[in-house]
Amino acid sequence: MEHISSHKGTQTPEQIGNDAADRLANNFRLLGEASQPAPYLLETEEPLLFFHNNLLMQGDPRDFLKSLEKQAMIDTWKTKAPKQASWFLKHPTQVLKQAKQAWKWSVERGTGEAWLYFVFGICQWLPTNHRLNKGKDETLRRCTLCLCNIPEKMDHLLKCPALAKEHLQLKEEVMAKFSYWNIPFASIPSKSREFELRTGWRDAARKNILTSSISNSRIDILTKAYWKVNSHKQFVSTNAFIKDLVSAAQNRYPIPCLQPRQDLTALLAQIFVLQTHAFTDIMNFSPLFEDWTSINGSDVPFGAKLWNTTSLHSGTNSFLFQPPNSQIKVDGLMEILSETLQTTARQGSFVSFQNQRSYHPTSSNSPFLTPLPQY
Ligand SMILES: [Zn+2]
Repeated sequence: MEHISSHKGTQTPEQIGNDAADRLANNFRLLGEASQPAPYLLETEEPLLFFHNNLLMQGDPRDFLKSLEKQAMIDTWKTKAPKQASWFLKHPTQVLKQAKQAWKWSVERGTGEAWLYFVFGICQWLPTNHRLNKGKDETLRRCTLCLCNIPEKMDHLLKCPALAKEHLQLKEEVMAKFSYWNIPFASIPSKSREFELRTGWRDAARKNILTSSISNSRIDILTKAYWKVNSHKQFVSTNAFIKDLVSAAQNRYPIPCLQPRQDLTALLAQIFVLQTHAFTDIMNFSPLFEDWTSINGSDVPFGAKLWNTTSLHSGTNSFLFQPPNSQIKVDGLMEILSETLQTTARQGSFVSFQNQRSYHPTSSNSPFLTPLPQY
């Protein structure tokens, strides 16, 4: 083999031959340029041409078919089971990545159950009471771990007070990972939406002349209660809070602002497993209980359950405290309540706490705190 460089003259026989080859190639190039274009892929160049939506698919068709199949399955998932697809639609990349991991781990360890658990978890299909007892009595669907008296759904598992220790551990482990990966600003605690809204409400309540006599601690309790009722809303205006607060304060029945000592109440709540603070109002309800009931509609924006049916307290253990010189005839009330408890299938109980002794606000062994300033 000998390399002949072109355009170096036509002296040697090799250079003459090279020149002839160049001329021939040039002739055919001119011929090709002058004639009609030949149809592409005349014979046997590709055994199969794969078109989809007028696009020619190149490369391994199996990859493309797989992505097509995946999209079709996601579409079916979305339309036929929107609830089961909602977590996937929110985090499509993370769920698929985690799915690959979970599949690998369960294959490696030979635990098919782990894979099933992952699938059910992603689909919000874990055997919560809400799912297991679907269509059955409402009491069976409630969470049995805590006293919230609400259905045990996946959302509840993430905020169930009985699982607070696990939630905290999860948070700590996530924070540890963040600092391990050196994620910027991860160590700065983020202000929650609750904190920002409640601070705004408190400042507005402090500036408003109509609510300025309410104590700071009571405002904190009330912003917390208002947040609990409205946290699912996208916007909660400060004006709405002030309006509801003024209305609730102006419409309350003139019962004294008087509460039993909170350490005593906490003890009673623990011993008797009390969930509800019965027949109280915005100035007196204790945050130690899960809910509270009122006879006044203006208390409802702050989470009060309105006592419009005598059976309202059935199914929960309630705490009832009447301050001295109260207008309410407690004996008559207890009679009505015990009747409703006997007639309904869902039992409940009451702890009634009445002041039997004469009341001296100055005496040190009084079970009461000093009265709050009257509104
Ligand atoms: Zn719970």
